[in-house]
Amino acid sequence: MQFIDLMAQQQRIYENILGNIKGVLQHGQYIMGPEIRELEERLAHYAGARHALSCSSGTDALLMALMAYDVGPADAIFTTPFTFVATAEVISLLGATPVFVDIDPETFNMDPVHLEKAIAALENKDPNQYPLPKGYEKLYPKGIIAVDLFGQCADYDRINTIAQEKNLFVLEDAAQSFGARYQAKMACNVADIAATSFFPAKPLGCYGDGGMVFTSDDVLYNKLTSVRVHGKGSDKYDNIRIGINGRCDTLQAAILLAKFDIFPEEIEMRQHVANRYTELLGKSEHITCPFVAEGCMSAWAQYSVLSDKRMEILNALKGAGIPTAIYYPTPLHLQTAYAYLGYSKGEFAVSEETAAKIFSLPMHPYLREEDQIRIADVIRSI
Ligand SMILES: *Cc1c(COP(=O)(O)O)cnc(C)c1O
Repeated sequence: MQFIDLMAQQQRIYENILGNIKGVLQHGQYIMGPEIRELEERLAHYAGARHALSCSSGTDALLMALMAYDVGPADAIFTTPFTFVATAEVISLLGATPVFVDIDPETFNMDPVHLEKAIAALENKDPNQYPLPKGYEKLYPKGIIAVDLFGQCADYDRINTIAQEKNLFVLEDAAQSFGARYQAKMACNVADIAATSFFPAKPLGCYGDGGMVFTSDDVLYNKLTSVRVHGKGSDKYDNIRIGINGRCDTLQAAILLAKFDIFPEEIEMRQHVANRYTELLGKSEHITCPFVAEGCMSAWAQYSVLSDKRMEILNALKGAGIPTAIYYPTPLHLQTAYAYLGYSKGEFAVSEETAAKIFSLPMHPYLREEDQIRIADVIRSI
């Protein structure tokens, strides 16, 4: 059994993938070939955003989005400590400072009540109101990175409202949520700007690294096109700002075009797999199944459950040859790389408790019912 079975998908669309790769080998435009524009247009249309800009990875998508907002030293960016390190890393890379905000215990996404407290504490320069990072005296609120963890959108109604009141931008880290829905909108179109990833294991993955930035703001989009190619102006030898080499490979775009043809169907298949897990495991006394908020449809990047008996269950599953994973065992405020922020244990209690109890089961559109029954049987035997 695979944790994420990419081969089952490849077998289904093998000829189309090969045909698209051959197309690139024939025209030879390996950098910014016609597949790039086609992919951007199709994905912008799908997400409902005016613009989509492909790039080299999900991390670079986040970085470029922050660069489009001129994020730099003295800027505080609010985000959660219960996420993949890339979310906070891009803030630090620009010399800005992540200000952590604890998560909701059910969705694992940013808790808007905590967000308000963190913003107020920073405005009042008062770490007694809410934990603040070292150097907070010199920081000013600039933006928010909300993460759509495991494929479910964060609470954008409340987060966007808070952001508007405080004049902050909202960047949606949609690395795990492409294809998800939030009320009447699609993920990647629920905030000012969004970043997704095409890392192979994400809901829409390529065969290498890739990512995409989405926005409906023309000014931001124009800046992003410049940032993506070394801060180009009228051409690439006219450099008007500091940028990066952030392009997506034409070959990856060609592969994604073949995969995107079946993506909406795969999102439906993921719903069936997730629902089946919840039916099989919902009544087990040692497991808390994922909670999907009203009006949300998850892209189910992961099916993650909570348990007080995590080690026992993981060992039993391992013994039965069933792969599992822990996303994420250490919240970012307790990571060595973030020791410089000076946060301490206990300051983000929900994130810490979640990190101690969470684990993820095999999840992909092609997971068979018989395999899910076997997984549930092992878990229920504890
Ligand atoms: C995967 C991921 C990223 C980074 O994407 P890459 O394409 O691997 O650079 C960022 N944020 C979150 C939440 C992710 O899951």
